[in-house]
Amino acid sequence: MNTKSDSGISRRSFLISTSMAATAGLLAPRNSFAQADGLVQTARKSAASATITVQKLRGNVSVLMGAGGNIAVLAGRGGKLLIDAGFAGARAKIADALASISSDPIKHLINSHWHFDHTDGNEWLHSAGAVILAHANTRKHLATTTRVEGWNFTFSPSPPGAIPAEVFEDERTLQLNGTTIALKHYAPAHTDSDISVLFTEADIFHVADTFWNGYYPFIDYSTGGSIDGMIRATEANLAKVTGNTIVIPGHGAIGDKSQLAFYRDLLVGTREKVAALKKQGKSLDEIVAAKPTAATDAKWGNGFRSPKDFIGDVFQGV
Ligand SMILES: [Zn+2]
Repeated sequence: MNTKSDSGISRRSFLISTSMAATAGLLAPRNSFAQADGLVQTARKSAASATITVQKLRGNVSVLMGAGGNIAVLAGRGGKLLIDAGFAGARAKIADALASISSDPIKHLINSHWHFDHTDGNEWLHSAGAVILAHANTRKHLATTTRVEGWNFTFSPSPPGAIPAEVFEDERTLQLNGTTIALKHYAPAHTDSDISVLFTEADIFHVADTFWNGYYPFIDYSTGGSIDGMIRATEANLAKVTGNTIVIPGHGAIGDKSQLAFYRDLLVGTREKVAALKKQGKSLDEIVAAKPTAATDAKWGNGFRSPKDFIGDVFQGV
C-alpha cells in the first residue's frame, strides 16, 4: 500500500511505516538474519513485501521509504531524478510510488554510494529510462567482485545495465526542473564512494549513509569506511546545514540540524569511550559488556545494527 500526503505524513504514521519497513527490510532485527540466509539475501527476499511510503518534502522533492535506503525524488517536466534505487524486488511498489508523485518519466538516477540497498534497483531503473550517475568508486565496486566482511557477503559484478554510465571524482553540479543539484564526494566515511546531494533552492541535503537517523550506523571497513571518516563526514554535514535545511539520511526519518548534531555527539562519544577501554587492554567482548552506548541502545539499537555490531564497528577503527 502506498501512502501519500501533500503535507507530509504524520509522525505517528511515519513511525508505523518505519516499523513496517523494519520488519520487512534492511532494518529488520539482527536476530532474524541469523536464522537461514545472511543479511543480504534476507533483505533482498523481503523487498517484495515491503511497504513504501511517499513523503513530500519541499519544492518538487519527495522521499520514498521502505525498500532499502531512502530514495529522494525530484519531479518535473524534465523528467524524474532519483537519488538511489532501493531493492530490485520492490520494483513494482517503487514504480507505483513514483507514479503517485507525477507522470513525469524517469530520466536520471544518482547512486549515493555503491551498497546494494541503494543500487539493487539500478538495472530496472536504467531499463525504464534512467541514466545512472555516481562517484567513480561506486562504478568500480559495482563492476567488480566486492567483499563486505561486515555483512559476510561477496557481491558478484553487477549486470551492464546497472553500472553507472557517468561518474565523477570530486564534485558535479546539475540543472534540472528549475533546480540546482550539487553533488560532492566525501573523503572515505561509510565507504569510499559516498556523495552528498544538495537541492540548492529547496535547501534539502541528502547525506547518504553518513547519517542514520535513529539507528546505529553500519561502517563498511571493507570498502574504505571508518569511524573517524564517519565523524569527519558528519562534521562536514553540520557545517553545511542551517536550521532551515531538511536533511535526508540514508536510513531513518527525515532529519534536521539538531538531529545531525545529536548523531555527531553519539559518534564522538562512543568513539571516546570505546577507545579508552581498548587502550586499557579490554577485549571487544569486555567493552560490549561495559555497555558504552547504554543511554541510546533502547532507541538506536533495534535496527540494522545492534549495540554490539556498532561497538564492533567503532572498535575496529580506534
Ligand atoms: Zn550503505
